[in-house]
Amino acid sequence: MAPSPEPTARAAHSLLARLDCERVYGADSLPLSAPAASSPAPITESLHAIAEEVRSCTLCSLSDSRTNAVPGEGNPRARIVFVGEGPGRDEDLNGRPFVGRAGQLLDRMMAAIGLDRTTAYIANVVKCRPPGNRTPTPLEAATCIWYLRRQLALIRPVVICALGGVAASALLERQIRITAIRGQQYPMGDSMLIPTFHPAYLLRNPSGKKEAWYDLKLVRRLLDDSE
Ligand code: URA
Repeated sequence: MAPSPEPTARAAHSLLARLDCERVYGADSLPLSAPAASSPAPITESLHAIAEEVRSCTLCSLSDSRTNAVPGEGNPRARIVFVGEGPGRDEDLNGRPFVGRAGQLLDRMMAAIGLDRTTAYIANVVKCRPPGNRTPTPLEAATCIWYLRRQLALIRPVVICALGGVAASALLERQIRITAIRGQQYPMGDSMLIPTFHPAYLLRNPSGKKEAWYDLKLVRRLLDDSE
């Protein structure tokens, strides 16, 4: 039986994205033109190119219902990347990540450890809003996560802070409960992944803020230690 188009497109997309990741990480055995060693990677342009790809992406059905794709934004040389689950209604309308109520709390969480949107980068696992803000399906997450992986490969942050179980599970490629892993350190390439609670969860469960504060202090410590 012929494979249905969506998994085929996903496989092609994943393969191309994986090759691109390897090129970005510096593999020199691929038949792709690598930048000369003396010229630094054009980080801003490349993140811009990924954002353009995301805006015209139709690899999964989330593109059918989006108003705007939300590629991510922030400092291309950020030492920390915050990763959420996917755009909500406000983000879909604005094309920018974390601009609703959860985003206001994320701004306060960043400020508490001396960060803001000019020093950090903010992105999501899926770049288009799942209808009704439902959780992205595993297929949607697997299709979209290569955009995020390419962004991370370019930025090479010291810390990747996964906000919530969906982001942590997608990045670690296994199904995990955020309560079981938050506050722990997971090496990921040159970066350290720290999972913590999603700000939307903290809005519903303020008692989790104490643990989130512990996680944020760990994030701050890792950033300080790497200087
Ligand atoms: N929640 C997310 O996970 N991401 C956003 O960008 C906004 C809300």
